[in-house]
Amino acid sequence: YPVESIRNFSIIAHVDHGKSTLADRLLEITGTISKTDHNKQVLDKLQVERERGITVKAQSASLFYNHEGINYLLSLIDTPGHVDFSYEVSRSLSACQGVILVVDANEGIQAQTVANFYLAFEAQLSIIPVINKIDLKNADPERVEKQIEKLFDIPTDECIRISAKQGTNVEKVLQKVIEKIPPPQCNTADPLKALVFDSTFDHYRGVVANIALFGGEIAKGHKIVSAHTKKRYEVNEVGILTPNEQPTHKLYAGQVGYLIAGMKEVTEAQIGDTLFLYKQPVEPLPGFKSVKPMVFAGMYPVDQTEYNNLKSALERLTLNDSSVTVHRDSSLALGAGWRLGFLGLLHMEVFNQRLEQEYNMSVILTAPTVPYKAVLSSAKLIKEYGKDQITIINPAQFPDKLSVSEYLEPIVLGTIVTPHEYIGKIITLCQDRRAVQKDLLYIDENRVMLKYLFPLNEIVVDFYDALKSLSSGYARDKAYAAGKLLCEHLKETIPRQLFEIAIQAAIGKKIIARETLKPYRKNVVAKCYGGDITRRMKLLRRQAEGKRLMRKIGNVEVPRDAFIRVLKRE
Ligand code: GDP
Ligand code: MG
Repeated sequence: YPVESIRNFSIIAHVDHGKSTLADRLLEITGTISKTDHNKQVLDKLQVERERGITVKAQSASLFYNHEGINYLLSLIDTPGHVDFSYEVSRSLSACQGVILVVDANEGIQAQTVANFYLAFEAQLSIIPVINKIDLKNADPERVEKQIEKLFDIPTDECIRISAKQGTNVEKVLQKVIEKIPPPQCNTADPLKALVFDSTFDHYRGVVANIALFGGEIAKGHKIVSAHTKKRYEVNEVGILTPNEQPTHKLYAGQVGYLIAGMKEVTEAQIGDTLFLYKQPVEPLPGFKSVKPMVFAGMYPVDQTEYNNLKSALERLTLNDSSVTVHRDSSLALGAGWRLGFLGLLHMEVFNQRLEQEYNMSVILTAPTVPYKAVLSSAKLIKEYGKDQITIINPAQFPDKLSVSEYLEPIVLGTIVTPHEYIGKIITLCQDRRAVQKDLLYIDENRVMLKYLFPLNEIVVDFYDALKSLSSGYARDKAYAAGKLLCEHLKETIPRQLFEIAIQAAIGKKIIARETLKPYRKNVVAKCYGGDITRRMKLLRRQAEGKRLMRKIGNVEVPRDAFIRVLKRE
């Protein structure tokens, strides 16, 4: 494939607008996968992705397509839609020259549509606007086209109306990809320059790095160097993703594929790193901003005897998710554990779910917090830390108030798209959360886009839920209502004990809410009429297993998901 017949592109969209479904259709049309009824989110390989119907990890696939007598090699990179994973979007985009921007014909432009558009726009990529789900009864593609024109300055006639589900006009999208997205600008005759834009860990083969070649060629036996670590490797295998790994003889400039070169840890294949030939050093590519975790939580084994198992599970899982940070930690109540840093709450939940599903681990997660900075005023502390500003990721480690001149907290720019009847309530909610308005724009007659600067701490746990509940007409006094709700939830989630339990919410010493959990005697074998001994044993074993899922705090057993459920106020 000469460079002119290569296209590297990505699909970007707000969550649920149909990226993965469109990707499935593109894979089918090009014969990459066969047409069956079972092709649902083929690129979503992780169990958690299939269960939640979201894409967590970006996956690539190379497609072969003949258009007007020319064979094209199209590399498609699917991207996650949720904001927590937007770092995956931007790194995927670095391997592309263009994007398909998918917008739901019924929902119209949503917050993540805007954020993703700007990622592509700032990377100077060609943008193909696609309006999906035109088969829906309430589809209003005309309105969405006008929104796209108003917000993104793209003429309405450039939008392609499709149904990814039924396949309508999907072929047109492929043709547009070929016409509108430029081939990568690079040359096979140049020295090798390969961008590592993602990496995964395989138990048997070590690191599998996803690479985009910006120059030269690469094949088995080549001796390469990492610009980042300066380490040398010999290439064992290269290939393309279809979407499973398919080894090829070589990869050439402009192509996207994978590489295996005896790297043992994901840190050796740093995202954004440049690989080059040992004998032909090159100027490294600009690379990426490193991702900073913004949500921290303690993680503890439910049972301390599981500590070492959890430790090795954590080590293995973080190999595949280098955006999670891990620090050892311990707590009086929960024993030895870790403090983990995540990109957001969904990221934390997904990580937790993967620990459970892929490693069979059950853990306790503590309340999520954001990192704070403290500007130190005490000469003694400045000397002790060797700097006058420290980052605090654990609330238990806040320095003494007297030795700090100022605390700084993370601030985020948030975009909210809403029907205009909720504007008043939303503005009040934002003000309650100490947010500062940056923008207010009507994107059509009855939809508004708001932009606010939020203190991250105010929105990290429950802002989205609060926002959603506005439309169902709630408004309440924060602390009292929150306290009451927490107590009620705990009452539901904590199993009754042999004694009465008081569940109280307090601000400082003031009790603001209380629930009482009545005593109860749990006797799992009571229903066995004494007779059947195997049944009895089975029930007792099951009860023992159930206990593993509990955590004793004082004398009360708290189911581990009570922590998360209570925090989310589900
Ligand atoms: P993603 O989150 O952007 O990857 O979205 P998905 O591809 O997972 O699609 C989200 C939901 O929308 C799924 O239930 C799809 O079946 C559905 N969907 C996707 N495309 C269409 C379409 O063209 N028409 C209809 N009616 N539903 C669609
Ligand atoms: Mg998806």
